[in-house]
Amino acid sequence: MLHFKQNQLTVFQSALYKTTTAIIETDEAIILTDPNWLPEEVTQIKAYINDRLGHKQLYIIVTHSDFDHLIGLGAFPKAKIIASDLLAHHENKDQIVKEMNDFDQTYYLTRDYTHQFPKVDEVIKKDGQQLRLGDTNLTFHLAPGHTKDGLFTLIEPHGIFLAGDYLSDVEFPFIEDSYSAYVNTMETVATLLKQHSIHYLVPGHGHVADDRSDISDRLKWSMHYLKQLRVNPDQLENECRKRYPFFKAMKNSHVTNIKRATNEFD
Ligand SMILES: [Zn+2]
Repeated sequence: MLHFKQNQLTVFQSALYKTTTAIIETDEAIILTDPNWLPEEVTQIKAYINDRLGHKQLYIIVTHSDFDHLIGLGAFPKAKIIASDLLAHHENKDQIVKEMNDFDQTYYLTRDYTHQFPKVDEVIKKDGQQLRLGDTNLTFHLAPGHTKDGLFTLIEPHGIFLAGDYLSDVEFPFIEDSYSAYVNTMETVATLLKQHSIHYLVPGHGHVADDRSDISDRLKWSMHYLKQLRVNPDQLENECRKRYPFFKAMKNSHVTNIKRATNEFD
């Protein structure tokens, strides 16, 4: 599962949808994002953490409420959970838990924990909220557009940007919340890139970007996609077909995106 390792950052990647789990080790704590998907994969992540945790506190950042990002949480009952206020007060927690259980039913999967909706210990209520862990500073930004409860985390001084389901190299933007919110969230990224030295971008699906031009190309492409969605969605579809090896499986999301972008401006 090991996908990337450099300095404080280790990233595991699931066999399913190239979903990532980022692990950041500091002197005081271990910070994890969205442990996932398959039982063996979650066990592997847990073993990695157990080998290193010692007396440190484990924090898990839940980047947003899509069930694939919550499915491994039950394996870490002692972790302190960080998530947005909107996630903490999600309107349909039972539905998310049902999706996790349905997934396990479909593939005959058994786990040594039961699925629950997370109880959030550190609720992120406002943009720019911070959490200091020894020498490490976590700054959170609300990131609606994909889902309304999305959360960005910037970890300094290490220059690690945890983007959740944004800025992926294997998926175009999936707009499940709102087109205009998505555009605003990309503008937040542009500001963060200007104001901070970001060395690593970890998307929720796909590969780590670890140089400035790769990171800013991801942003440029997302902006381009959002713009073209309203101007020339058919040409955009052709571009996506070339760019994304799994486009066939994602085509419906492109169609939904077009409808959403159109409806919001009509
Ligand atoms: Zn996802």
